[in-house]
Amino acid sequence: MKNLPASGRLSPLDIINTRVRKLPPYVLKSLQAEVKVNQNESPFDFPAELKEAVFQRMRSLSWSRYPEFFPQKLIRRISERYGWKEEGILVGNGSNEIIMALFLISLDRGKRLLLSQPTFPLYKLIGGILGAAVVDAPLTGELEFDVERMLHICRTEHIDVVVLCSPNNPTGCQLSEDGLRRLLEVHQGLFILDEAYSEFAPVNMFPLLKEFPNLVITRTFSKAAGMAGLRLGFCLGEPVLIEQAGKAKLPYSVNTFSLTAAEVLLDAYHRLEDNIRLLVAERGRVLQALREIPAIQPYDSKANFIFFRVKASAGEIFQKLLAQNILVRDVSRYPLLRDGLRVSIGRPEENDRFLVALREICSL
Ligand code: PMP
Repeated sequence: MKNLPASGRLSPLDIINTRVRKLPPYVLKSLQAEVKVNQNESPFDFPAELKEAVFQRMRSLSWSRYPEFFPQKLIRRISERYGWKEEGILVGNGSNEIIMALFLISLDRGKRLLLSQPTFPLYKLIGGILGAAVVDAPLTGELEFDVERMLHICRTEHIDVVVLCSPNNPTGCQLSEDGLRRLLEVHQGLFILDEAYSEFAPVNMFPLLKEFPNLVITRTFSKAAGMAGLRLGFCLGEPVLIEQAGKAKLPYSVNTFSLTAAEVLLDAYHRLEDNIRLLVAERGRVLQALREIPAIQPYDSKANFIFFRVKASAGEIFQKLLAQNILVRDVSRYPLLRDGLRVSIGRPEENDRFLVALREICSL
């Protein structure tokens, strides 16, 4: 073997791709707090009677059998709910798995992935692991999508895949329908629109699926649907694309329990609607309250969280909130967000606790 070190043995790290070793991992410290508003989860648990219905179905199912290869019952319900053909739906272990599958079938060494920054860090990580060159298009100074800049990049550089998160994590901005349409008119490669937070947003991009066969929209049950612990996501797109993406997803990656829970939930989806309405109203209330704190600059959001800048050090404010049992997300290491924190919208009393604590911290 060539290039062996003097010891005659490779170290474990020597056997890993250099480009992978250079990438920062996507990790989150396991911190807990009474007010946990750091992961954009739903503050409302899965309704108790629906849990009961899931347990009942699970009792009658055989746990020794694999789940269905194509989870047809769930796919049918998703198809009915979102008005999209069954063959154009792929279900996975969280939308993360779906995004990874879409990257696996379209990216490779030398391919170019366009994304907007700051955004969900996983895109850059998986794109980088696959050896793709990641092209960043920064948000505008107001932290809105810079459509003109992305159009310019798509027209003047070779781009294989575009992935945009809208509403964007962690800033909350949403791409306009007109902006998305203009980008799709120019970019003919795979276009992934990650809509993990779309239930909280006013604009629905589904109509564009019919017009642009290169568009794939990913969704999740982890946020508005309150099923983060069960790991379920899906995407909608042209059946030919979905069939290819299915090759890159592990078989049976969604277990019977999660499939059953999602079926039960989709049959009672109206149970979520009040929660979503309440979170949207609370988002408006928290935003207004943050605007009234002089040392805080919050940004409008179309998701179930708010990004805000602080005058002091973001790390210090994070720690002071944590000392009061309030866990927000420190996003100050993201590009352009040096002084930033993100807070998920919780139940009204949790939001109040957060606001009272932040006001007090900022007045010291
Ligand atoms: N996309 C975005 C933008 C997210 O913020 C997240 C979760 N933080 C995901 C995808 C992944 O969600 P899931 O739980 O469905 O894998």
